Amino acid sequence: MIARLGAPVRVTSPAKINLHLAVGDLREDGYHDLVTVFHAVDLMDELVVSPAAQHSVRTPGVAGVPAGARNLAGMAARLLAKRTGQGGPVAIEITKRIPVAGGMAGGSADAAAALVGCAALWGLPPGRDALTEIAAELGSDVPFSLAGGTAVGTGRGERLVPVLSRATLHWVLAMAADGLSTPQVFGELDRLRAAGDPPRVGAVEPMLAALATGDTAAVAAALANDLQAAAFSLQPELRRTLRRGLEAGALGGVVSGSGPTVALLCTDPEAAAQVAAEMAGSGTCRAVKVATGPVPGARVVVR
Ligand code: ATP
Repeated sequence: MIARLGAPVRVTSPAKINLHLAVGDLREDGYHDLVTVFHAVDLMDELVVSPAAQHSVRTPGVAGVPAGARNLAGMAARLLAKRTGQGGPVAIEITKRIPVAGGMAGGSADAAAALVGCAALWGLPPGRDALTEIAAELGSDVPFSLAGGTAVGTGRGERLVPVLSRATLHWVLAMAADGLSTPQVFGELDRLRAAGDPPRVGAVEPMLAALATGDTAAVAAALANDLQAAAFSLQPELRRTLRRGLEAGALGGVVSGSGPTVALLCTDPEAAAQVAAEMAGSGTCRAVKVATGPVPGARVVVR
């Protein structure tokens, strides 16, 4: 993290896919215990952080993202200044590529990027542990956006252990027209469980074994998400998106996190290009992107 003090800092930060997401019962504090396997992919938001007379956050051309103090990137900048007693107002400009409310932790990616960018801008020592603590205060997914790679998350998802993975995974991401609110999807799962306890995803070990051997077909077979049934219940057309992806030749597929993005795992880059082309013409999604993982977490771009 080397930057000229005061010069604008450019940071990239990855989207995530949950390869495995097991959701426990609702806790008394309103949260659910999770066991999840996070996987960072090269669909990146890009932030430019510059010194300014007052705090501001802009996401030009993107609807549904708060511009000011409620933007997670601005909250991250202010919390870092508060915790370290350093820094000053910053102007943050976000080039958004991660779908908003898409289940790919776009807001968390921006928060992690703002932490890394401000730390570089203010010349703070590159203490990843300190940044990770602040990241966990900002949101359950923010520590993973900082770390990247592949990791098991427990607690609310913020307690991370890196995973040995020999697999390079090629994805097609089918993005939906409308987002889904994460709290609403958890609420729908609680409702479905109260009404009849739908089947739960199994243990995480088969996914960990598949990643360790780098066997893409085994990874595809082990993809699992307890929130998928709730996302299907709220947006029934997602079933068709997933089915269409499998018919197009994907090895496997899963709703990413709380959805509605559907992540389709393909054998290699050629297969991903083929599946992407078919999905783009299928009328079952708003937009299609190809992506590869794992990639590192939020990083300063050195040009
Ligand atoms: P997750 O996968 O972490 O559950 P998500 O990817 O489904 O989240 P986000 O794109 O992170 O959803 O956004 C959720 C909400 O957070 C948005 O509807 C928006 O109002 C708010 N938000 C605040 N800051 C940002 C940001 N920088 N980018 C996107 N959304 C933001």
